[in-house]
Order: sequence, then C-alpha cells, then structure tokens
Amino acid sequence: ADFNEFKLQPYIMTALHKIGFTKPTKVQEKLIPVIAAGKDVVGQSQTGSGKTHTFLLPIFNQLTSDNQVQAVITTPSRELAYQIHTAAEQLAAEAPFEIRIGNYVGGTDKKRQVDKLHHYQPQLVIGTPGRVMDLIQSDALDVHTARQFVVDEADMTLDLGFLDQVDRIAGRMPKDLQMMVFSATIPQRLNPFLQKYMNHPVKEEI
Ligand code: AMP
Repeated sequence: ADFNEFKLQPYIMTALHKIGFTKPTKVQEKLIPVIAAGKDVVGQSQTGSGKTHTFLLPIFNQLTSDNQVQAVITTPSRELAYQIHTAAEQLAAEAPFEIRIGNYVGGTDKKRQVDKLHHYQPQLVIGTPGRVMDLIQSDALDVHTARQFVVDEADMTLDLGFLDQVDRIAGRMPKDLQMMVFSATIPQRLNPFLQKYMNHPVKEEI
C-alpha cells in the first residue's frame, strides 16, 4: 500500500515525505479509508502501531481555515498529549493556511489559555480530558462546532477516572459527531460509553 491511495491533500504528502514515512503501517492502511469515509471506529491497537497518524491524517485532510474548533483529541497523560501535538505540528507546518493547534494539559497556565481562547479558537484541540473540560466550562473553549472526536487510550482514560470528563466533553458536541476510540484493550466497563456514542462503529484489532 501507498499513502497516495488515501487521496490526501498535497501539503500532507509533502509533510509525510519530510517526516520520512514511505508507506502506511497496517493500522493506517486499514483505518484511514474508514475514517476518511466518516465512520465511527474502535481501534484496538498498541502504541508503536502508527495509530497517531491513523487519526491525524484524515483529520488534517478535512481541516479548513475556519476560525473554529473542528476536531478534538483527548489522551490521558500530558506526555501523550505532547507526543500527539508534536506529530500534529509537523503536519501543520506544511499547510498552505494557518492551522492553530491548542494543546491543553493539566499543570499549565490556564489563565493564559483562556485569554488566548477569547481571541481565537484553535481548529484542532489536543489535550487531557480534565483541562479540556475545564476550558469548556470556563466558556473559553467552544467545541460545539467539532465534527470529529478522538478518544485516545480509552482504557487508560477509564482507569484513571477521566472517562466522566470525556463523556461531558462529548456532551457539548453535535449529535452527528464522528467518534474514534483507540484503546490497547476494550474492557467491559468501556461498553456503556461505546454504546452511548458509537454509531455502527467499524472495529479493528491490530
Ligand atoms: P504511534 O503508534 O502512533 O505512537 O507511532 C509509533 C511510531 O511509528 C512513531 O515514532 C511514529 O512516528 C512512527 N510511524 C507512524 N507511522 C509511520 C509510518 N507510516 N512509517 C514509519 N513510521 C511511522
């Protein structure tokens, strides 16, 4: 398989070339077309499988210059959020229009984030569930325009007690939202959440 098959925008192809990715990983090959078709997905895959770009590439392919939140990604740890943010910035760097990416994790200056958000909304939000919900609650971040929501590391999110926050974030988004859940394992306790938000999801074990 080849990245050309995904019909990605030229700037994304340029970015992939610069990053040095020559061909998609297995999870990318399976799920990028499914995500690009707008379907909900549950991806059971480990870190190292290339799952970050599995959701980033189709998300970036749909981002526009509109000054509003278009996609939200939550992940349970600050470090994971920074990793996703770094990968996202590499793609944004090649875009022919400005792509603002909000990186919102606990332990950072909330007031500064709120002040900035009062000037403009990022097109893409990456953060930990608590801080993202905190910014929504503070009437700073507005996610009602989001089309896509990625819940990364859903099992860890559940174990750390953050699934309630994720549930509340999803509650602020449109009903026809595209949901993508990635998790190393799919524990039973995750099922109520999946049943509440997933609409005929495509499940893929990698
Ligand atoms: P992830 O599972 O998203 O944490 O990715 C694991 C590692 O694989 C990261 O260092 C990625 O930069 C790298 N990676 C992701 N996709 C590809 C690809 N198509 N070709 C080569 N490396 C990749």
